[in-house]
Amino acid sequence: MTRKLAAGNWKMNGLMASLDELKTLVQSHGDVDTDVLICPPATLLTAARDIAGDKIAIGGQDCHAEAFGAHTGDISAEMIRDAGGTYVILGHSERREDHEETDENVRAKAKAALAAGLTVVICVGESLEEREAANTLDIIGGQLAGSIPDLVTGQTLVVAYEPIWAIGTGKTPTLDEIGEVHDFIRSRLERRFGAGVGRSTPILYGGSVKPGNAAEIFGVSNVDGALVGGASLKAEDFGPIIDAL
Ligand code: 13P
Repeated sequence: MTRKLAAGNWKMNGLMASLDELKTLVQSHGDVDTDVLICPPATLLTAARDIAGDKIAIGGQDCHAEAFGAHTGDISAEMIRDAGGTYVILGHSERREDHEETDENVRAKAKAALAAGLTVVICVGESLEEREAANTLDIIGGQLAGSIPDLVTGQTLVVAYEPIWAIGTGKTPTLDEIGEVHDFIRSRLERRFGAGVGRSTPILYGGSVKPGNAAEIFGVSNVDGALVGGASLKAEDFGPIIDAL
C-alpha cells in the first residue's frame, strides 16, 4: 500500500517562537500512523529537528545542485541532512517562478538530494492559463519527465501536484479534476519506473488544503496526502488535516 504523508511547507514564515506550534503538533500527533513532515525555513531546521525528534520528519524547502562551494546564500542537500532533515521540497512553483528554476535545474537538485540521502518531494502543477487551454496533462507530463531523476524508489520519491492557481487563493480544483491529474501522475510513474516504484510513490495534493476540505480531497483516488502551506503554520489547523488522512 502507498504510504500516507501529511506535509507542511512553512515557506518564508516562522521565527523561533513559531516552533511552539511544532511542539504542540508533536504532543498531539507525534504518534499517529500517518507520516508527518514539516519543512520550516532553513534557519529553523536544527531547532525543529530537536523538537520533532523521531516523531515528525523535518525537511528543507530547496537545495543547491552541488554539495558545497562558492554559492552565496544557497544551502546544499548535505547541509539539510546534517541539520537533521530527511526530506527536501524541490521545484515548488514559487521557486520555478521567483528563481526561474527549470525542470533541468530541479532534476539536478533532486540528484544531489538523493545522493545526500534525502527523500525528494517534487512539485508539479499548471497555471490557470494552461488549465483553461486544456494543457494541464501535457504540462504535468513534461514536468514529471524533466524533473524526476532516474534513480528513485518509492521510499525516496514523493510527487506533489500543486495547481499554481490554487496556491494561497482559497480556490481548489473539483474532486474530478484532482482525480484526473493524480491518476495521470500514477500512470506516468508506473510507465517510467515500473509498478513497484509507481505504486508505492506517495502523490500529494497541494493548494488551499484546509481542515474543511481535507477529508473530501483525501477520498479522491491516488491522493495519498497533502502538501499544505498556510494551514500548516498552526497546529490547530494542521492537526485536523492529519486526522483526515
Ligand atoms: P497553501 O496551502 O497556502 O495554498 O499553499 C500550498 C503550497 O504551496 C504548499 O507547498
